[in-house]
Amino acid sequence: MQIYNTLTRKKEEFIENEKGKVKMYTCGPTVYHYAHIGNIRNYIGHDILDKTLRYLGYDVTRAMNITDVGHLTSDSDSGEDKMEVARKRENKSSMEIADFYTKAFFDDFDKVNCKRPEIISPATSNIDMYIKMIEKLLKDGYAYVSGGNVYFDISKLKDYYVLTNHKEDKMVVGAREGVEEDNSKRNQADFALWFTTSKFEGHELLWDSPWGKGYPGWHIECSGISIKYLGEYLDIHGGGVDNIFPHHTNEIAQSESYLGHKWCNYWFHNEHLLDESGKMSKSNGTILTVSELEKRGYDPLAFRFMCLNSHYRRQLVFSFDALDQAANTLNKLKNKIADIIDDGNINQEKYDLYNNRFIDEISNDLNISNTITIIYDLLKDSNVNGHTKLKLINDFDKVLSLELTNKNENNSELTEYILSKIEERNEAKKNKDYNLADQIRNELLDKGIELMDTRDGTKYKIIK
Ligand SMILES: [Zn+2]
Repeated sequence: MQIYNTLTRKKEEFIENEKGKVKMYTCGPTVYHYAHIGNIRNYIGHDILDKTLRYLGYDVTRAMNITDVGHLTSDSDSGEDKMEVARKRENKSSMEIADFYTKAFFDDFDKVNCKRPEIISPATSNIDMYIKMIEKLLKDGYAYVSGGNVYFDISKLKDYYVLTNHKEDKMVVGAREGVEEDNSKRNQADFALWFTTSKFEGHELLWDSPWGKGYPGWHIECSGISIKYLGEYLDIHGGGVDNIFPHHTNEIAQSESYLGHKWCNYWFHNEHLLDESGKMSKSNGTILTVSELEKRGYDPLAFRFMCLNSHYRRQLVFSFDALDQAANTLNKLKNKIADIIDDGNINQEKYDLYNNRFIDEISNDLNISNTITIIYDLLKDSNVNGHTKLKLINDFDKVLSLELTNKNENNSELTEYILSKIEERNEAKKNKDYNLADQIRNELLDKGIELMDTRDGTKYKIIK
């Protein structure tokens, strides 16, 4: 399998540490608010990687953290802990906030058919591990205590910026706009491992440590959870491109200094989902979540389908038009699949032909959009019997997870919607409001639904 590795900045053959086994880590959500659809695109990318590895026969163990402490409003060490921000905003305890948004996150995660990792661990459950790591980093001279906090000293490394191409001076935290200098740091790019003094009063979650009561930094939690559950040698670590610096850069620094050897071989990063404003912002004042899309009548799998049609290393621009189009295409595809008659026996030669094409694409740095083309080719191929077609599509769906052979439940919702529009249009015609009637017809046409007025009333067909 070929996979793009951020560490080497090229597509490489994937070679696992232990034959047939893959240990994979995904940075989890910070549960201080809802995860928007841009966050979810990132998890869909990881889900595809996880399922592709399984499809290729690897035994995958995957871990993910839940950040419920220590992630400040800036990804570096300034700003306030996001959980504290939420606690004050909603007047609840940190644990109530974490429970609520963790549940909301997994609701949406499940709705887009992302498989939950084998290991899911909240940051607050592993405090002992971080303390153990920080003690060793201090003992070995990679960290120092200053102003009550413990910092990692990046000057102790030969190459701190292994994941980035940026010049050091550009990456220095203090030099970036809007980030205030921390006078306790020897070098402004040093990062906090443990906070005991904070300019914010009343931080709710505090633990005893050799350096006083405090709480862990954000970066140490991923290193700690990964090493604790997946061991000293990690095959793949991933996140969104915004995690490359400083989060993953810091994870490598502290993990390898702690372990004394290379930690992770492949770094996997998903590009952003943007809206037309250039970042994923709100829509009519609402955070766009998968559940919100569902409330607006969309099948969450239409969103998954939209994501799969674009390569994970490419930015994807979200719009409701694009989502409408994805929903219609998926709907049509499912209807075509529903028309397949399950006849004949498996034709192994044909099965292998198409399955090998599928494997070639998923093994080529997750070329998922091309696998959709394979399905269209398969549907058109009159030399393949229905049984073989259905077997192939069911197998491909182990990776795609679009429920391609399930009868489209959303059909009934769509049907209901169309029927209500037809009724609305009939009412308009009755009131001689032909403008409105035309408007409804055009509105449906834009969505790929054509209305036909017949003697038996108005019929419709889905045209795209
Ligand atoms: Zn992380």
